[in-house]
Amino acid sequence: MKVESWIFQPEYESMKREDLEKLQEERLRKLVRYCYENSPFYRKRFKEAGLSPDDIKGLDDLSKIPFTTKDDMREAYPYGMLATSLENVLEIHASSGTTGKPTTTFYSQRDIDIWSEVMARIYASAGAKKGDIIHNAYGYGLFTGGLGFHYGALKIGAAVVPVSSGGTERQLTLARELGTTILCCTPTYAMYLAEYARTKLGWDPKKELKWKSGIFGAEPWSEKLRQRIEDELGLEAFDIYGLSEIIGPGVSVECGEHDGLHVFEDHWLVEVIDPATGEPVDEGEVGELVITTLTKEAMPLLRYRTGDLTTWTTEECSCGRTIGRMGRILGRADDMVKVRGVKFWPKALEEAILSVEGASGHFIAKIERPKIMDVLTIEVEPDPEVFEMVKGDLSKLEPLRKKIVDKVRNAIGVTPNVVLKPVGSVQRFTGKAKRVVDLRKLNE
Ligand SMILES: [Zn+2]
Repeated sequence: MKVESWIFQPEYESMKREDLEKLQEERLRKLVRYCYENSPFYRKRFKEAGLSPDDIKGLDDLSKIPFTTKDDMREAYPYGMLATSLENVLEIHASSGTTGKPTTTFYSQRDIDIWSEVMARIYASAGAKKGDIIHNAYGYGLFTGGLGFHYGALKIGAAVVPVSSGGTERQLTLARELGTTILCCTPTYAMYLAEYARTKLGWDPKKELKWKSGIFGAEPWSEKLRQRIEDELGLEAFDIYGLSEIIGPGVSVECGEHDGLHVFEDHWLVEVIDPATGEPVDEGEVGELVITTLTKEAMPLLRYRTGDLTTWTTEECSCGRTIGRMGRILGRADDMVKVRGVKFWPKALEEAILSVEGASGHFIAKIERPKIMDVLTIEVEPDPEVFEMVKGDLSKLEPLRKKIVDKVRNAIGVTPNVVLKPVGSVQRFTGKAKRVVDLRKLNE
């Protein structure tokens, strides 16, 4: 199904590039002065770098400003990055801190207005409008996904069902009974919903559900997974990108062309750099995404290193937007896995496995080092129909198993052990998927 994608704020999303750059320049100058005057963190940074706000006259001066990193944010926990008085803050989010100290994000009224606006742009791009019923299965709570999608729905005047994450049967029952039209969740969860509807409820999701488009993000996913989701749910899938440090969801979205994600450049100033040297890479080259928040009030960030690897282009898009596009996220610089000296991203595994007919998207890869050599073992479920066909006798699926081995070897350059597993036995994820588990650290 193809939806009618539209542009919520053409005055910004489709403005002439030279006007956009002028606007960015004005906003950057203002932002730098604001940070210097209101953020103790940035004032100190500027002084250490021997930099004054007057040194930043235009976009060409951007590289003079030091990068801001996740570590800076951790060190500043809880209130160190705040650039306004606490009484101007209306909302505070915190990361889980599973990999160290947590980080905080603050929103003033203006920030929430901006958040609503960029999320409204995302909905418009995915064809949502007044009269739609938004099925918001992103988690409400400290995770920024739920509320971001909520505010955007209010802004475009659609009805939002704040179903949040979990309770899959209830989600599906509600979706059918209320007739929700737009699905918002992680791509992994969309797959799970489709599978659950088919296998546990005996539904054909395309017939029972009215979802015409889906807005999927919060984890990198592949083109192959898009095809699966679209086939199974009969909707048009849109990739989005965002991160809580910047605003939550709301940095960028695909348009109906599905050829990259338009970044809302009037709010987010983009650079793509070589993660090793910090130098900019050419348009089209892979590098780390760096974002400066041009308009944020409570917690503005200058040149924030997202850790996410992507590409960038300002080439015009046929949808009519003039704002530039980032590629799909290839992975995180620090999520890359190294097996027998070969580096790859978990997404490459997903892409390879899903390209094999008869293989499902449910898999877990484990990396171990029993002796000297790394061993990569991938447990994969066949498609339920295929599983049914051999009446659960996995030994009859040896050709399928071999095909997966070949595809993965060709994709990443490492030969894996592939083990086929009965349908339903591999772990399901309802939030962000963690499909590659590195057990080597436990054995060291
Ligand atoms: Zn476009």
